[in-house]
Amino acid sequence: MGHGFDLSARLAEREAKGLRRELTPVERVAPSSRVAPDPKGGEPAFDDPSALVFAANDYLGLAADERVQDAAARAAREVGTGAGASRLVTGDTPVHRRLERAIAETKGTERALVFSSGYATNVGVLTALAPDVVFSDALNHASVIDGCRFAGAETVVYDHCDTADLAAKLAERDRGGDGESWLVVTDSVFSMDGDVAPLSELSDLADEYDAWLMVDEAHATGLYDDGGGIVQREGLADRVDVQMGTLSKALAAQGGYVAGSEALVEHLSNVARSFVFSTGLAPPAAAAATRALEIAREGDRRRRLWDIVARLREGLEDLGYEVRGSTQILPVVVGDRADTMALAECLRERGVLAPGIRPPTVPEGTSRIRLAPMATHTDEQVEQCLRALGEASREVGRR
Ligand code: PMP
Repeated sequence: MGHGFDLSARLAEREAKGLRRELTPVERVAPSSRVAPDPKGGEPAFDDPSALVFAANDYLGLAADERVQDAAARAAREVGTGAGASRLVTGDTPVHRRLERAIAETKGTERALVFSSGYATNVGVLTALAPDVVFSDALNHASVIDGCRFAGAETVVYDHCDTADLAAKLAERDRGGDGESWLVVTDSVFSMDGDVAPLSELSDLADEYDAWLMVDEAHATGLYDDGGGIVQREGLADRVDVQMGTLSKALAAQGGYVAGSEALVEHLSNVARSFVFSTGLAPPAAAAATRALEIAREGDRRRRLWDIVARLREGLEDLGYEVRGSTQILPVVVGDRADTMALAECLRERGVLAPGIRPPTVPEGTSRIRLAPMATHTDEQVEQCLRALGEASREVGRR
């Protein structure tokens, strides 16, 4: 092997820094799951044959819903398991069109366009828009950051959810006389803090500076008004130029979407390289997302999820935990890295899967358990999770 490609050495270096990541194979994504035996041949990670998963982004529990599964199976049989080619070649099927109409209707836009993942969506949109300058929230998702890099845009990072800092940075930059294109981009719900961007103020600032506003609704899509995201909750569809999101979380499938004007969608389907040069979304995924969106719009699953979130927040606060955010993502802040990982392990021993998140993913001193309930958890399962957290905190506290 040539110099510079000593991958074992690179991995060892990661390991030494405590940055080595490992896959955690599970048998299924449903509200309870089994962690498969250690792939290196060890024993199953714990005795409980069926652990409760409080870590999935399948927030409405629709990945295991028969109605959604049937829609995917039917599309596989009637349309095909794969799209077979780019949408621009022979991959543009009725299931794609139906999904895009449903997304545009939910998001209150003229059109929508689906990509093969949320990651590919952000990279495709940002490179195709090719803004001169991007103003980006400090905690935006990696796919937004990569999109800005690949677009070659000058990126100005503003402090997380801090509109005063953004206003100062917009004001301080001289736009020059030649009408640079400016884009403000933010996640709506942030995946590690479970907090929400101040979208109304951001759209005021975007208007004031004649910038476009792009919002990543990955963790919000399907969960708010009429199955929309925070943009819908705040009634801002007319003021957000680019709404994007993923089909892989509450919509229980795979893929990403953009919702916006006719001109935006036509531009993207011509220019976004991750759309043009990539096989169309798999028809079963498109059909599953369409059915999941219908169920999300009906509302029962959403209401159930928010009831569970309220009960968990209350129970966690009774246990003395600091819980951040205001959404279905419940970051339970422990602080110390080692305590956090010990707590996650205690939870696992008690049959609850919820990951410990530590630096560099989150700032030093804010290590946390990221608890993400699903609408299909029963009341008893929610109480079991709370009991496990109570016991685990006592055990870790005793160490
Ligand atoms: N944006 C955000 C905010 C995300 O959390 C994610 C997924 N982790 C993505 C985009 C990428 O979506 P996908 O998983 O569909 O590629």
